[in-house]
Amino acid sequence: MSSYVSEFMAWVKAKNPAELEFHQAVHEVVESVALVLERHPEYRKMKIMERITEPERVILFRVPWLDDRGEVHVNRGFRIEMNSAIGPYKGGLRFHPTVNLGILKFLAFEQVFKNSLTTLPMGGGKGGSDFDPKGKSDHEVMKFCQSFMNELFRHIGPDTDVPAGDIGVGGREIGFLFGQYKKLRNEFTGVLTGKGLAWGGSLIRPEATGYGAVYFASEMLSTRKETLEGKTCLVSGSGNVAQYTIEKVNQLGGKAVTLSDSNGYVYDPEGIDPKKLTFVMELKNIRRGRIQEYADKFQGVTYTRFDPKLDHNPLWDHQADCAFPSATQNEINEKDAKNLVKNGVYVVSEGANMPTTPEGVKVFVDAKILYGPGKAANAGGVSTSGLEMSQNSMRLGWSREEVDRRLLDIMKRIHRTCADAAATYGTPGNYVNGANIGGFVKVADAMMDQGLV
Ligand code: NDP
Repeated sequence: MSSYVSEFMAWVKAKNPAELEFHQAVHEVVESVALVLERHPEYRKMKIMERITEPERVILFRVPWLDDRGEVHVNRGFRIEMNSAIGPYKGGLRFHPTVNLGILKFLAFEQVFKNSLTTLPMGGGKGGSDFDPKGKSDHEVMKFCQSFMNELFRHIGPDTDVPAGDIGVGGREIGFLFGQYKKLRNEFTGVLTGKGLAWGGSLIRPEATGYGAVYFASEMLSTRKETLEGKTCLVSGSGNVAQYTIEKVNQLGGKAVTLSDSNGYVYDPEGIDPKKLTFVMELKNIRRGRIQEYADKFQGVTYTRFDPKLDHNPLWDHQADCAFPSATQNEINEKDAKNLVKNGVYVVSEGANMPTTPEGVKVFVDAKILYGPGKAANAGGVSTSGLEMSQNSMRLGWSREEVDRRLLDIMKRIHRTCADAAATYGTPGNYVNGANIGGFVKVADAMMDQGLV
């Protein structure tokens, strides 16, 4: 089978040159799925892997907009409609200057398996732009979002493709995008998730990815009859996922000691308690400032600027029990993974998508720590988006407790699916194989049923 994996990867690379993150994401999945293909030659015969790695549709478009000084800018917009075998395309929009086709294809590909794991009927998609919302006025962000939607609206719809937020796309951006969609289509539908509560949003959606990553960590810990109580946690990022990860860690009796942004990170050995977290939320969501201000505000905190010349990220080099990477892809390399294990970390639950490099993943798997890959551990966000779609279709809203109860239930089921799939295919405790196989089989079966489309 290893020759199958290398031949398949050579084919993927030749077909999708220069899309490094996409190659990385496919490689991880095909290594796990090779175990399934051995037992089920029918998937190979029907070329499921060749088809599942080819997007059903890629939309690429020009996004022109005017800044506050009247200057013209042109960004690039994307939507990758990856797979609709089990439901409408579903996945976030990312606005960040690093966005390119390969990154969005990796995210869309991961989304297919993640959405399958949620048990909800959602296909996989992803989109976004190389637009950078940082330093832009609200008015400029609105102009950009409107121009972006002027093209995207013709490709999406509540039964076709339902985008959501991701890096750089939060409540403000979803509001502007939804407003423009509504104007162009003249209809009020659940075409985006992450909406405001007053206009079709779901309670707990903002919290869901972070809460879900912590629920997943708790489930992994429960296999060793442990809880998060008293555990020290390293968290990266300081956006949506990081903030609600820390809120849930605090609620479950743990202590989070780090936060970061793209400039540097803070280490607060006393712990980021609810009062300090309120400061972070105001800093990041309203004032849109830098995390360095946290160290200026609170005593006993150290701020370290990231040094691009370093071969590791010092955030991951502190004594702790758990790590919740919640910033971006490939933020934990092999050295970081070794540092984490050396410093006592034995639970890693990925809030971000693919935050660990393949070499880093190998360190975790070999060390047999409780390692929850992003496509399982951060599936709480899209699960709650699925719950928002259900509420929109039924034209009703569930209570906070109801949504949170359903989220916890879904995270438990995802954990069970991963654990069972890993054991069934002879790798008990390997959540990487569990998530890839658990997500793959359902989509593959649906593709087999639906013929060559
Ligand atoms: P936000 O935009 O709210 O926050 C992102 C955070 O990560 C910011 O602190 C940002 O710092 C930092 N960051 C972003 N890019 C980089 C980079 N290249 N290097 C260093 N730091 C960086 O995004 P989210 O919290 O929503 O998303 C975080 C991660 O979680 C992403 O991987 C996303 O795909 C994943 N995710 C998000 C979901 C959601 O529901 N929002 C669902 C599932 C996964 P700065 O402000 O300086 O850019």
